[in-house]
Amino acid sequence: MNKTALNEIDDFPSVRGRITENAPLGMNGWFKAGGTADVLFKPADIDDLVDFLRALPDGVPVQIFGVISNCIIRDGGVRGVTIRLPREFALVETEGTLVKAGALALDASVAREAADAGIEGLEFFSGIPGTIGGALRMNAGCYSTETKDVLTEATALDRQGNIHVLTPDDMGMAYRHTTTPEDYIFTGAVFQGRAGDPEEIKAHIQAIKERREESQPIRERTGGSTFANPSVTELSQAGLSTDTKVWQLIDQAGARGLKIGGAQMSEKHCNFMINTGAATAEDLENLGEEVRKRVAETHGIALRWEIKRIGELLT
Ligand SMILES: Cc1cc2nc3c(=O)[nH]c(=O)nc-3n(C[C@H](O)[C@H](O)[C@H](O)COP(=O)(O)OP(=O)(O)OC[C@H]3O[C@@H](n4cnc5c(N)ncnc54)[C@H](O)[C@@H]3O)c2cc1C
Repeated sequence: MNKTALNEIDDFPSVRGRITENAPLGMNGWFKAGGTADVLFKPADIDDLVDFLRALPDGVPVQIFGVISNCIIRDGGVRGVTIRLPREFALVETEGTLVKAGALALDASVAREAADAGIEGLEFFSGIPGTIGGALRMNAGCYSTETKDVLTEATALDRQGNIHVLTPDDMGMAYRHTTTPEDYIFTGAVFQGRAGDPEEIKAHIQAIKERREESQPIRERTGGSTFANPSVTELSQAGLSTDTKVWQLIDQAGARGLKIGGAQMSEKHCNFMINTGAATAEDLENLGEEVRKRVAETHGIALRWEIKRIGELLT
């Protein structure tokens, strides 16, 4: 697909927010690698975003990110318009045992605000370095709790700017996956916790922090888990114990520490890829594909990327 240039889009809507062409994208994400957004739009507020979506010609693709902690932005960049939500979407409020958060709120802020208000059950969010929008899209989770377990409802805008209020069932949330249409833009969510003791909740958050420091390369340029754990059926068919984790398959395939260009499978947690310095998005993707090949040869299992790869390859 050709690069999107503003002056080539007929009827490009006039907006109150900020439009930037060729805006850095991959370099602003956790991997610090990859291409730019052809057009980046930061709306002034929700009305500006709705008006923009209503007026944008149908053929122009729209993309949205949170803090890019789960994506490889390919080196050739992202076509169409990339939306960056404005700050009003980063608000978190509590009401009884409910927590209301905008889609740009960090998961960690949701965990912290909940703890301060004595709301238990959202501590797992403290271990996920993304935004609520990313958590809704990925059904993010850790230590046996997923976003869907605490979600009451989410709000989203469709490509035409219509607002939808969705329950977890509407969203078809499953392990690191939802069936919500790809072009929906989440704007916020409501989570249900339960009354708890703020000091105990904070101690739980601290324990999660220490556990992650020990087991994950969280100070590196990484994207979290590269591949999803295979299903019980896949593991049984491969003659493996059903509690086998994907990192064990990668380790057994000899890919711990494997390097391609500047990309490496972490020695600390071999399902995490890291940019050791000058990795391109292509290095990262090629490394992932090499790992998939080795695991397929060793175990006959086709690993599924958990990390999203978005944008165009460099031609
Ligand atoms: C060190 C580290 C540890 C991690 N640990 C975990 C973990 O334990 N558990 C876990 O689940 N994940 C983990 N991750 C992965 C990642 O943090 C989560 O998937 C997170 O939910 C992604 O949020 P984000 O804001 O960074 O999304 P992005 O990476 O920016 O985007 C991810 C996807 O969500 C979509 N998206 C983002 N915002 C919106 C929105 N408002 N509306 C619609 N779609 C949207 C994007 O289009 C993209 O498809 C880890 C990552 C790192 C770097």
